Amino acid sequence: MPDPRPRNDTLLLKANLKHLRLPAMSAEFEKLAHEAAGADESHERYLLRLTELEVAARAANALSARIKAAGFPVLKDFDTYDFSALPHLNKQKMLELARGEWIDQHFNCCLVGQPGTGKTHCAMALGLAACRQGKRVRFATAANLVTRLEEAQKQYQLDRFLGQLDKTDLLIVDELGYLSFSRTGAELLFQVFADRYERASLLITSNLAFGDWGQIFQGERMTAALLDRLTHRCHIFEMNGESYRFRESVSAKKDKKSK
Ligand code: ADP
Ligand code: MG
Repeated sequence: MPDPRPRNDTLLLKANLKHLRLPAMSAEFEKLAHEAAGADESHERYLLRLTELEVAARAANALSARIKAAGFPVLKDFDTYDFSALPHLNKQKMLELARGEWIDQHFNCCLVGQPGTGKTHCAMALGLAACRQGKRVRFATAANLVTRLEEAQKQYQLDRFLGQLDKTDLLIVDELGYLSFSRTGAELLFQVFADRYERASLLITSNLAFGDWGQIFQGERMTAALLDRLTHRCHIFEMNGESYRFRESVSAKKDKKSK
């Protein structure tokens, strides 16, 4: 009769790994043990390789959780961004920002320019890079953020919501300027921006030049106070050029015709 102990040991080990919440080790220990025996590896080497799998799985799970919490509408990265479409855009500086030091230094970033030039694309790529560096990111359109703020205020949950925003290292506010807000909405957004001043980073995308921000924030004084804080320590990119979408659809039509 074969010795029943090895099978028992395997079951007990699986139960222990489950109890200790080490799923990657539990899934892989048998295969790795087999390989280790074949390669005559030391016990330490085997344990090292096994723990490395768990550490890697945890890092991957934490990254997925950070990306999910950021609330990106889709995932876009720099590898699919064609910098040649905007020759005046400083590619080197943009990619330097993807290293994330500006967020550690509580700098802001503004991407300003015409529609379709890739402002949202670059904002998401910078956000994704920050997630990979272990930073907490939150992405929202300005309209959506203002609605959430107004709702939170109505339900006496404003402090709680502001507290959540406060925990993020990078708040991305997309499409500022497409819609104007109510007086309360503008004041709430102002409060969020002012709260982060020199404490945590903001990334804003806008189709409006700074000179026209009075239209969104109603009142010269509020606009001036806001711009003063926002642009004090800020990387500004002007993204003006032909719409990428428009260019692509035109060249697709040309291709069809030439066929
Ligand atoms: P904006 O926010 O400036 O209006 P988007 O980032 O939404 O522009 O870009 C519109 C679409 O075109 C998106 O699908 C985006 O991925 C794509 N796009 C824009 N510029 C580029 C580019 N230079 N290279 C690749 N895709 C681009
Ligand atoms: Mg956009």
